[in-house]
Amino acid sequence: MPSTYRRVVLKISGDGFSREMTSGIDTAEILSVAEQAKAVAALGIELAIVVGGGNIVRGAQVEGGGIRRATADYMGMLATLINGLALQDVLESIGVETRVLTAITTEQVAEPFIRRRATRHLEKKRVVILAGGTGNPYFTTDTTAALRAVEIGADILLKATKVDGVYSADPQKDPSAKRFKKLTYLEVLNQQLGVMDYTAISLCMVHRLPILVFNLKGERAFERAVQGEDIGTLIVPE
Ligand code: UDP
Repeated sequence: MPSTYRRVVLKISGDGFSREMTSGIDTAEILSVAEQAKAVAALGIELAIVVGGGNIVRGAQVEGGGIRRATADYMGMLATLINGLALQDVLESIGVETRVLTAITTEQVAEPFIRRRATRHLEKKRVVILAGGTGNPYFTTDTTAALRAVEIGADILLKATKVDGVYSADPQKDPSAKRFKKLTYLEVLNQQLGVMDYTAISLCMVHRLPILVFNLKGERAFERAVQGEDIGTLIVPE
């Protein structure tokens, strides 16, 4: 099947880097992400991955006891860089050429995020890992993913989650919960479906950037998602 998309952004939360119910880094988990990314890159699709940091630091949880929110958020952004570096090495260990670009400048370990540089790497079929969030406190890496996807002209934002899409209720608590195949941005916002934060959804809405929410742990899930198979929940203008 020909692939549907030319350039995509994948958002992986920090919990995709650690084993369930634990924090820190687990290389087996990272390898499973890397293998899925490798398969998608092998289709010739240009791939940028925005990494979260929640497995190490989430600003809202660290704030307090003398630590200001802005400081906690910078700590969170640095956490995303740790994940990005781990992902880079694991990807390279399986033969995928990558570059880490960061919004928090740390020139010893990664290139600064420069839009033109990011797109040039993508054209050269390098997998681009985007770390450091937006570089600003009070934002999230979901918003970063929306921002970068719009900025680099991606065709779609793929948001990896633990469940296979957006449900009417928590499927683990409510057996009658049903998966939505398609939603509009306004439905997500009005029904407070909690897919991504409002800033991220609004940005996608203004720029009509489709979002696919899917479970990266499913069998060949990422490959199937970029080939337009009916998995997850697609969020579109109408
Ligand atoms: N963060 C931030 N600005 C950004 C992106 C991230 O301040 O543009 C901080 C924020 O504290 C956040 C943390 O980095 O809690 C980790 O990112 P996020 O919570 O989005 O990670 P995820 O939940 O996806 O693992």
